Order: sequence, then C-alpha cells, then structure tokens
Amino acid sequence: MTARILVVDDVPANVKLLEARLVAEYFDVLTAGDGHAALATCEKTPVDLVLLDIMMPGMDGFEVCERLKANSRTAHIPVVMITALDQPSDRVRGLKAGADDFLTKPVNDLQLMSRVKSLVRLKNVSDELRLRAQTAQTIGLQELARVDRPDEPGSVLLVDGRASSQERLTRALKPIADVAVISDPQAALFEAAESSFDLIIVNANFDDYDPLRLCSQLRSLERTRFIPVLLVTEQGNDERIVRALELGVTDYIMRPVDPNELVARSLTQIRRKHCNDRLRASVQQTIELAVTDDLTGLHNRRYLENHLKLLIDRATTRGRPLSICITDIDRFKRVNDTYGHDAGDDVLREFANRVRATVRGADLACRFGGEEFVVVMPDTTPEMAAIVAERLRLAVESRGFDIPQAATVLNVTASLGIATLRPDGDTAEALLKRADMALYQAKNGGRNRVVAAAA
Ligand code: GH3
Ligand code: MG
Ligand code: MG
Repeated sequence: MTARILVVDDVPANVKLLEARLVAEYFDVLTAGDGHAALATCEKTPVDLVLLDIMMPGMDGFEVCERLKANSRTAHIPVVMITALDQPSDRVRGLKAGADDFLTKPVNDLQLMSRVKSLVRLKNVSDELRLRAQTAQTIGLQELARVDRPDEPGSVLLVDGRASSQERLTRALKPIADVAVISDPQAALFEAAESSFDLIIVNANFDDYDPLRLCSQLRSLERTRFIPVLLVTEQGNDERIVRALELGVTDYIMRPVDPNELVARSLTQIRRKHCNDRLRASVQQTIELAVTDDLTGLHNRRYLENHLKLLIDRATTRGRPLSICITDIDRFKRVNDTYGHDAGDDVLREFANRVRATVRGADLACRFGGEEFVVVMPDTTPEMAAIVAERLRLAVESRGFDIPQAATVLNVTASLGIATLRPDGDTAEALLKRADMALYQAKNGGRNRVVAAAA
C-alpha cells in the first residue's frame, strides 16, 4: 500500500523520527513544522493521511484539524492526532474537532502502522466512491462533503456478552443512536445481515468465543462488509488490536470505556457510513442514468449493445431461440414539423409506453435512437416474434396518440422488422443488421407493417 502522509510537529526531532519509520514502510512522507504550513500543504497537494501534533505554538493541532475538516477540499483526509497528553478530555476534544484517531507519545510502532494502514485503506474506499460520484455529477460534491450537514441518528448493533456493560454502553450511546443489543455473537451475525446498521460495536468479553471471529465474518459477508466495526478491548492487548485492524475492524476503544470517547468515535463512524452510503447511492444512480434513455425511461442503445451480447451468448450455449424486433415510427418528421418538437416528444413517450405494455417482462425494450426502438426477445421463435410484432403494430395503430399541447389526437403507425438468431456463430451486429434490412423492406412496402428477415 502506498500513500502520502503528512507529518506535522513543531519539534524537528519528532518529525524526523516519524518520517524515518514511515519511509521504512515505503510511505511517501511530507512534513510541516506548524499549522499554517500543514494547511497549505493539504490545499495544494493530495494527502492521504495527516499525523498531527496537538501542542504547537501559534495554531494548535485542534485548530488545524477543525480547519481541515471545515474545508470541503480537505475534509475527507483522515487525521490522526499525536499527543503527549494522555487525557481522555483531550481525546474527546480531538475527536470532536473531527480527528479520526489519536496516538499517544511515545508512539507505539505497531499501533502507528496498523492505524495508518487501516485509515489509508478506508480512505481509498471513500476516494474511489468519491471519484465515481464526481464523474456522475448527480450529487454535487460540495453537498456530500458538507461538514455542517445535520447528523441523522445512527443505528447501532451492540454485541456484548455481559449485562452490566451492555447497560452502560447503551446509556452512553443513547443521545446519538438507536441501539440494539445482542449477547450471542453468532446470532449477532444474522442480526447484522438482516437489518441495516450503521455501526456494529463488538465488546470483546465473551466466554469461550473469539471476538475476532465475528469481526472477520462481518467483513466477509456481502451484506455486512460495508458496516463499520468498533472493537472494545482491554489495555495492553496490542496483538489483538493489530490483528483486528488487519481483519478490517474500523476502530477500537480501550477499557475502561470513557463514555465521551465512545460517543465521539461512534459518531465519526456513523458519519462516514452515512457519507459513503450517499456516495454509493449516487454511483448506483449514475449507472442507471448511463444506461437509461431520458425521454422514455427505456434502456438506451449503449445498454442494448452490451446486454444483447450476453443474451446471445446465453441463447447460444443453451441452444435456445432468440428474436429481435426493430420498429421505427412512420413519417415521424411530419409530427415534429406540424405540431412542434414537444408534441413529437409526447408521441415518443406514449410509443415507449405501448412498447413496454406489449412485451413480456423477460423482453428487453430499448430506445435505439430517434424514433427507432428495439425489442430483444429471449426464448422466442420467429413465429412467436411475428405475433408479438403484429401485436405491437396494432397497439400503435388502433388508438390515437394524445397531444395535450396541440389539443389533438394523432393517428400514428410504425413499421417493424424482425430477425432471429442463427445457430452458427451469429453476432449482435449481424442480427441487428438483418432486422434493420427487414425494417427497410417494411418501409418500402408501404409502412405500417411487419417484415421478417429471411432465416
Ligand atoms: P419514415 O417513415 O421513413 O421513418 O419517416 P420519418 O419521418 O419517421 O423518418 P426520418 O428519419 O426522416 O425522421 C425522423 C425524425 O425524428 C427526424 C428527427 O428530427 C426526429 N427525432 C429524432 N429524435 C427525436 C426526439 O427525441 N424528439 C423529437 N421530437 N423528434 C425526434
Ligand atoms: Mg421514422
Ligand atoms: Mg428513423
């Protein structure tokens, strides 16, 4: 894993020490001696993680962190506070300032590396989503990165083997989340897969059960692998923590649990989860937009060209028939010329509705371009295809098309060409070409008719 890490400390010796350790692990290291320099670096260079000293003259680490998190261009960079003070109040202040984590000086090597690696890994996931969403431009990134977005309440699954700590942790989390509690770790896995939690807290206090087993299962299940996991564990068990972070546990907290720290860490995770959920939804929406025709809501040509290949492969390997139908509205240009382009759009929408209503669910209906539509019919013989095409022709001809803006009802007809997959290495292009030639014959033969391509 390579990543660019910015080390910020006013004491040059501290900078050198961290730099040397990170470089030894092949990280790319930048340094800054004060808060202003740190902010400037983050503004002008892509940084994957900031290791930030708290006690610095001028601007202290809390302020640097707050400023990074308040700037939409740097808000997504994870920040690890490094402090000589081992005061719970400082930790909480740091987390409230938006820090993702903190380490106590002198920095323990194992913790440093595992923290850095796990935060960089998390950032990579968000970056990837951010990038795709950006391409999408469906949601402005400003909107996503906004830090003043009000917190939506989170839903937390607490997996805890003991009644006393269940009660204590639930009470602490109450102000920020709905908490479901479960004592049995195996049942917890099912619960997590069934519902949609924003955070799973695993308290490592079970009799005869390795909590890391649950963590690892949560990471491997499709339905739970994006849910952050916070491990509650005892002091001094570095081995377990390192192992947990390697398994993909998102964060950990040491016992005795400080309620404020628990709340701050949980909030960080819940926020990140919500942000990633929004990004993911936006990516999904983009994919849908990319393959959907705006005007009619049918699939577009790009989708057809990709999907037709898959359908042909499947029909060929299974030895099943497959037919396609190309249909083109007759004299459509006249509609535009007479009633205007908007009226033409109305006709196209209504035409698409009739196509949709005529074909089966398993058929693929697409707007191929302009006033041309394609229907792919898996498991359909030429005889069946001819019946479907005739039904479609009638569905267009038999009822007028309402044009509200021209206060009129138009008679519309369409010509249709059908073709069926040949068993001997036929291609999507060849199939479309044959259907198109049949369509051309239908136009030439007088329009408003179905012509089948020769088998
Ligand atoms: P034919 O019977 O031979 O198919 O005649 P036609 O007039 O339907 O065919 P032609 O290809 O000459 O004209 C198609 C027209 O469709 C021209 C184009 O402006 C119009 N068109 C293409 N896309 C759209 C669209 O999205 N909306 C509207 N309103 N018109 C469109
Ligand atoms: Mg036409
Ligand atoms: Mg045309």
